[in-house]
Amino acid sequence: MPINHRDDKRRSVLVIDDELINREILKGILQEDYEVLCAGNGKEALEIIRENRNTLSLILLDLIMPVLSGKDLLKILKEDNETKDIPVIVMSGDQNSEVECLDMGAIDFIPKPYPLKGVILARARRTILLSEDRAIIEETERDPLTGLYNYQFFNSYCVQYDQYHPEDEMDALFFNVNRFAMINDRYGRSYADEVLIQISESLKKEFDGAIISRQEGDSFLVYCHHRDSYEKVMEDIAAFLPDKVSLRLGVCSDFMKDLDSARKFDRARQAANLVWHNMNTRIAYYDSKMYEEELFAQQLIEDFDDGLRNDEFEVWYQPKFNITGDLPVLTSAEALVRWNHHEQGMISPGVFIPLFEENGLIQKLDLYVWNTAARKMKEWKERLKISVPVSVNVSRLDLYDPNLVKNLSDLIREAGLSAEELLLEITESAYTEEADQIIEKVKELRKLGFLIEMDDFGTGYSTLNMVSRLPIDAMKIDMRFVRDAFQKKGDTRMIEIIIDIARYLGVLTVAEGVENKTQLDALKELGCDVVQGYYFSKPVNADEFEKFLEEKMESLCEEQL
Ligand code: C2E
Ligand code: CA
Ligand code: CA
Repeated sequence: MPINHRDDKRRSVLVIDDELINREILKGILQEDYEVLCAGNGKEALEIIRENRNTLSLILLDLIMPVLSGKDLLKILKEDNETKDIPVIVMSGDQNSEVECLDMGAIDFIPKPYPLKGVILARARRTILLSEDRAIIEETERDPLTGLYNYQFFNSYCVQYDQYHPEDEMDALFFNVNRFAMINDRYGRSYADEVLIQISESLKKEFDGAIISRQEGDSFLVYCHHRDSYEKVMEDIAAFLPDKVSLRLGVCSDFMKDLDSARKFDRARQAANLVWHNMNTRIAYYDSKMYEEELFAQQLIEDFDDGLRNDEFEVWYQPKFNITGDLPVLTSAEALVRWNHHEQGMISPGVFIPLFEENGLIQKLDLYVWNTAARKMKEWKERLKISVPVSVNVSRLDLYDPNLVKNLSDLIREAGLSAEELLLEITESAYTEEADQIIEKVKELRKLGFLIEMDDFGTGYSTLNMVSRLPIDAMKIDMRFVRDAFQKKGDTRMIEIIIDIARYLGVLTVAEGVENKTQLDALKELGCDVVQGYYFSKPVNADEFEKFLEEKMESLCEEQL
């Protein structure tokens, strides 16, 4: 990549000296390599500098001059944003001025009488190179809009800070603009940019001396000395911003000394995400409770393989009853996994399933559950001479597994089951992303004879249009609807609508979470086909579930008599 300061463009150098002879000497030395401008006093120089401020690469400045002295000129240049970055080399016979001028912002010092030509040229060249390098670094380490550090540089400055100040207590702050995309859309890009600039300015003011960065458009990171509270800071910043703009803040304080800064910022962000939809709370602190939860989650992930090897995962069964006849009839069961952890005891899937869905372990676990259920069914068939279909949960990730169809086919073949005996529950939300791909996969499974129940229906935001295309055999009404319907004065409209959709599609309805007789009777009245819930039974282990099978056998025998 070409770097602009190494190109062959001739740079301009301004020589300021009241003695003509000195100007001529320097011009003679420099003009082979540079465009040389000359000024005989400070005032004249100032005019030339202002006119050429964008092209001047170096100023050689005599200190003692009439009209405007070199020191005064230097002061003016360094105070003006437009000229402060032009490098200045001071020339004087007075060695004592050297330190003073360097303090004022001069970059180098050439004594008078002049040293050899080569020394002067070398100093000029080196100064120009250094200042151009510095400009490039400034550009790459800063966000052009706000002038804050970009992430990479921010990160290394934080690391560096910790290295040199290991005793300092530092807080990691993650600020995010609420609904920034909406601000962008509604009020336009330049308004939104202005908001970001205002935020960065108020952060600079509130956190003088801290390391600050902007990231991913609307997030700001601040690495600062520990404070007990950030309420006041948030108020101050809010006062500075338009009413329609608000910020939320995640704080990871210094309670874990050995955490590096990048990890602290991960946690600060995690905390901020907790108040994402909470209009009343603007600040969230990553606390030791969250840390405990994180450690617990990590522990479960680490224990997964051992747990699987040591049979800590148990498959339980919850019966489902067909209620279309006079008496409820056991029609199938749902296989639900439990983790009987060697230290923690029984852990509910509500705790570990979401975790395993995040990191992909769910595929291994699901395969294990399906296999266990299939083998159990085989055993029941052989020993009890009865077969009741069992439904297993198929996670969204499973549907992307290219081996899914083969795994399921192998599994039923090995257990001597037919495809209709293993029902597949697929949650509605799995259909909403990559709908076409998922629909194809499900069609393939149905072709092989598997029956599909759409789980948690009503929670996945699929459109009616999409629902009508879905290849399914039953709809499971999410238990939230069952619960809500009977809390709010028997308002069963949602359930009625779902049953209507299912009828229209020609598929069965299954209601889950049925806990009492009122719910059961109402669902029966509405035309629901199958129910599952604590009213009949909680999920039970395989041995206990056998009782349901035995009862069913008895009633079948009675029928035959
Ligand atoms: P789900 O598939 O919607 O399963 C129904 C959940 O509702 C089960 O919780 C069940 O115990 C509970 N339940 C059943 N009847 C009632 C009732 O009358 N009242 C109430 N309040 N709850 C009832 P569980 O076993 O804790 O499972 C939670 C979720 O974990 C399941 O929701 C499912 O999404 C997931 N899950 C469970 N086992 C597996 C599995 O093997 N693989 C996958 N991928 N997910 C699983
Ligand atoms: Ca389910
Ligand atoms: Ca469900």
